Formats: sequence, C-alpha cells, structure tokens
Amino acid sequence: MSPDRRVTVRVPAKVNVQLAVGAARPDGFHDLANVFLAVSLYDEVTATPADSLRITCEGPDAGQVPLDRTNLAARAAELLAARHGLEPAVHLHIAKNIPVAGGMAGGSADGAGALLACDTLWGLDTPRADLLDICAELGSDVPFSLVGAAALGTGRGEHLTPLEAGTFHWVFAVADGGLSTPAVFREFDRLTAGTAVPEPAASPALLAALRSGDPDALAANLANDLQPAALSLRPQLAATLDAGLGAGALAALVSGSGPTTAFLVRDPEAALKVAAALEASATCRTTRTATSPAPGATVLLP
Ligand code: ATP
Repeated sequence: MSPDRRVTVRVPAKVNVQLAVGAARPDGFHDLANVFLAVSLYDEVTATPADSLRITCEGPDAGQVPLDRTNLAARAAELLAARHGLEPAVHLHIAKNIPVAGGMAGGSADGAGALLACDTLWGLDTPRADLLDICAELGSDVPFSLVGAAALGTGRGEHLTPLEAGTFHWVFAVADGGLSTPAVFREFDRLTAGTAVPEPAASPALLAALRSGDPDALAANLANDLQPAALSLRPQLAATLDAGLGAGALAALVSGSGPTTAFLVRDPEAALKVAAALEASATCRTTRTATSPAPGATVLLP
C-alpha cells in the first residue's frame, strides 16, 4: 500500500424527529422508537497508513474530543482490524463540525466514518451487513450514521428500517457545554418513576408527514420524550426554544438527549432569519443551518 494513500469519508449528524422512550429494561437500556433524520452537517474522517493507531482532531470543539482508544473512531478501527486479523495501523484525522456531546450523534458519526474509511483504505470490502454489526457493537446510533437518509430505529435504536422522507430545512442552536446521554436517560427514569410508561411506537402521522415533505405537518408531529429530562437538567434551553419560535420557526425541539436544540423552518430564507435571531438572543453559543435528508457515510473522491 502506498504510504501517501488516504481515504476521506464524510458522515452526517442526525436529528430525531420522534424519540419515543420506553421504561428502563432490567439491563438498564430503554426500548426506543427512534425516527432518525440525517442532516447536512458533516464530520470528515481521513484514514492514512501509520505505524500504529493514532487519532487527531481539528475544529472549534476539538479540545473536547478524546484522542485515546475511547474515541469511537479508534474503537471502530480496532474492531474492524480484529475481525480481519490485522493490526489497526492507521492515522485517523477527524475534521469535526458536528457539535460535541450535543445530541447529534457526532461521536457515532466518527465511528461509522472511521469504519468505512479503514475498510476502504485496507481494501477489505467487508459486506454491508458485517459493517452494520460492527456499528451496532460500537453504539446504538452508529448504524444510522452509516446508512443516513431517514430510518426508524427500534430496540436500543440499532435495528433500522429505511423511511421515505421529503426535503426539510433546519436550524440548530448549539449550547454551551454538553449533556451526557446516560445522565439524560437517568433523569428520564427519575421523572417517570411511578408512572406507566407506554411501549414506544412510531407515530403514523409523523411518518406520513415525513413522507409528504410538508413542513407544517411535520411541525405538528415532532416529539421527543427525552425533552422534559433535558430541560430539567438544563432549564435555560427553554429560552432558546422560545427565541427560535418567536423568530418564526414552525416547531422547536431538543435534539436527541440535547443540549442542541432543533428548529424546523419553511425554507432557506426562514432558516437564515431564525439563525440570526437565535444568535442575537444570546441564548446559545452558535447556530448551524442544514437540510435533510442527507446521505450516510460516503467515501469522498480524492
Ligand atoms: P448521541 O446523540 O449519540 O447521544 P452526542 O452527540 O450527544 O451523542 P457525542 O458528540 O457523540 O455526543 O459525544 C459524547 C461523548 O462521547 C463525548 O463527550 C466524548 O467523551 C465521547 N466521544 C468518543 N468519541 C468521540 C468522537 N469521535 N467525537 C466526539 N465525542 C466522542
């Protein structure tokens, strides 16, 4: 293999347009009905041959990304190499644009990106089903980062059924500091203790709205069962949600476990207006605009 050979994979962030959470199972996990939508906000993972596994990261949030073996990109390389009896001798460079610990599956994106980048660099051509198995071993959101577009995730979120989706426009407000996903689930358990938590199920109205591409219909059906828990841990997010709605967003919700908030808007012009109002409101650190659906992990041509 030529030492200057490199493979770059682009991989999207996600927003959950429905996140239905069941009661905690005996193993501590929760059954979910998770409607994932990939959005055009991307990390890029570049793999180059190296003497041993090494991770580097660039971007505004790079300081918060672990560069050791706990990085999901490193774990992806190790799992793939082990499956093929290889050493994970690779340098993985992450160009990070997805907010860290923001509920947009940034770490999962890098895991899926690294997996595809290493598979391509090492010429393995691992069957898609095996790549998806490795993704599920890495984490509940990782299989979706590989496939992208729109999908319903059941189980812990890792069993995926592709969905049809029209085009939608989004603004994301990035909060100061992250929220730990396990902490948000613990708060969900605390808030729902003693209540009958229904079995999680995808909403037929939400799925129809997603298919139709009608932003008003989608706005009426967005739902996140983790939102009360995220707001309980981070009450200031309510002001961010209000600021976006006040500026004309059709709907607002916490993205996944937060603290990023997501605003559905009618068109790109509305996105710019809502983003400017959110920035002026000083209720968030920064904003991003994006469209959905976006493709899953994709090898970029050199
Ligand atoms: P999700 O939406 O899947 O719950 P998230 O977007 O809230 O995830 P991530 O950005 O994936 O959160 O990061 C969660 C934690 O995972 C970070 O605080 C960090 O310690 C760890 N982590 C491991 N690998 C990565 C990575 N490649 N990029 C960012 N964080 C990573």
